[in-house]
Amino acid sequence: MYNFPMPYPDELLYSTVARAGVRMGITSPKELLEEVFGDKMVVATPDLPGHLRAIARHYPKSAELSVETLAYRHTLFPLYAPFVQEERRQRCLSLLACNTRGKTHLSLGVAASRIKPPSVLRVCPGCVGEQIARYGEPYWRRDWQILGANSCSLHGKLVGTRSPRYGIHRHSFDALTPALFPHEGQKNCSKEDLRLGRRIRDLLDMRARPSPSYDQWSQFYSALASDQGCAAGRHMVHSLILEKILAAWSNQWLKDVGLPVANSPSCWLRALFQKHRKSISYLEHLIVLEAFLQAEWRIQNVVRQVARLPKTKPAAKLTAFQRPHITPDIQDKRQMWQFYLKRYGVKNGRRLGGGAAYASLYRHDRDWLLQINKRYRAGIRRRVSRVDWDCRDRELFEKLRDIQRAQPMGLDSPRHSKRWYLAQIGRMTSIVKHLDKLPLTSAFLAACSEDIEAYQIRRIRVAIHAVMESGLPLKRWRILRVAGLNEIRLKTSARNFLNEVD
Ligand SMILES: [Zn+2]
Repeated sequence: MYNFPMPYPDELLYSTVARAGVRMGITSPKELLEEVFGDKMVVATPDLPGHLRAIARHYPKSAELSVETLAYRHTLFPLYAPFVQEERRQRCLSLLACNTRGKTHLSLGVAASRIKPPSVLRVCPGCVGEQIARYGEPYWRRDWQILGANSCSLHGKLVGTRSPRYGIHRHSFDALTPALFPHEGQKNCSKEDLRLGRRIRDLLDMRARPSPSYDQWSQFYSALASDQGCAAGRHMVHSLILEKILAAWSNQWLKDVGLPVANSPSCWLRALFQKHRKSISYLEHLIVLEAFLQAEWRIQNVVRQVARLPKTKPAAKLTAFQRPHITPDIQDKRQMWQFYLKRYGVKNGRRLGGGAAYASLYRHDRDWLLQINKRYRAGIRRRVSRVDWDCRDRELFEKLRDIQRAQPMGLDSPRHSKRWYLAQIGRMTSIVKHLDKLPLTSAFLAACSEDIEAYQIRRIRVAIHAVMESGLPLKRWRILRVAGLNEIRLKTSARNFLNEVD
């Protein structure tokens, strides 16, 4: 019996097995498999290896390296565990214990994922140097093999090696040696890589715990969107979610990790905020959580919080407004349409995202739809008309002044009464009815319209002017005759005015 090496911190079991081969001086892959697993057909899998029970057997009980501990500390299992349902998490752990035959990859959604992991094993040359200084040998760390964690926070970008992740020699475990990778300087890592790397590190450090259900995750994201103003009722507003994501991450970086976002029905973001039906990748969860939670957050706390949510969603309470025939779906569509209606009005609301809700309501809930649209239109009209009076008042005032300026003040010109001014403008009744809303107009009419006395005085003034121009003596009777007025009908102030001329 040889001494099987203890795994180093964060060492992949793949790496520990490779080191065991080096230690035993075994160069034939099959021989190593036979020695370690007692099975020549074991596939060398770096991320989610099986046969953990066979490996655990090599360690004394005191090392406390159970299948579960090995899976959580020395494989990439923690990246997936919180996002599959508990029953599946348990099943995957049992699969990892024996011969998984690729079933774990299928079960955790790794095989079907749109995000493809790097094709070769990667290293941080800086860390390799430190490993050699500290332990006398280098080893493959698991956090170098994760898509999205493309940098080491201390040394910079990770570097691809010549060791394929899934090679032709699927039965050989390659020990890490400095000869496997180039030794030029490491590139600096991007801010995004660093931020995400921290979150992935947190996720890797999670200890075994029961997973929340898909329903609990759905509830969590639904509440998250509501809290951050990205939901209309129970409906997510994708454009607002998109804005939040793009404020936190550049689209180029999202493209680089295989998760570009767009305002399209197939965008991966939508699935996260809809009812979860299958596991969603750790990368999608972390990208969204980082954008939405921003401040100091820990994935451990999020998972704990999600697990405390009700296991099954309570049925939506019926409010007085809802009638029994209104299904939750219709209710959702109503809330969604109201959201767009209030923001953009009927026409633009349909164009700017509310079209589907509108069409569905038109088919299934037409009375309600037409009523709410009408109510909203009436609201708009009232608001617009208030603005109209101010504007109208200014317009009328300007018009009245133009009329006043254009109108000759001669003897041919009739009395410029209030009625006369209003008749010049037209729509007399509507103005008279609303004079209280037209302060400029009514002030003009009060100051500038002629009552009978003012009219008589104007005529007398014009007549005096005409008589003086004709060179005839300025006599009272002559002025009255030219003015077309008679002594009996003369008003007091006009008479006084005439007396002053005499
Ligand atoms: Zn490093």
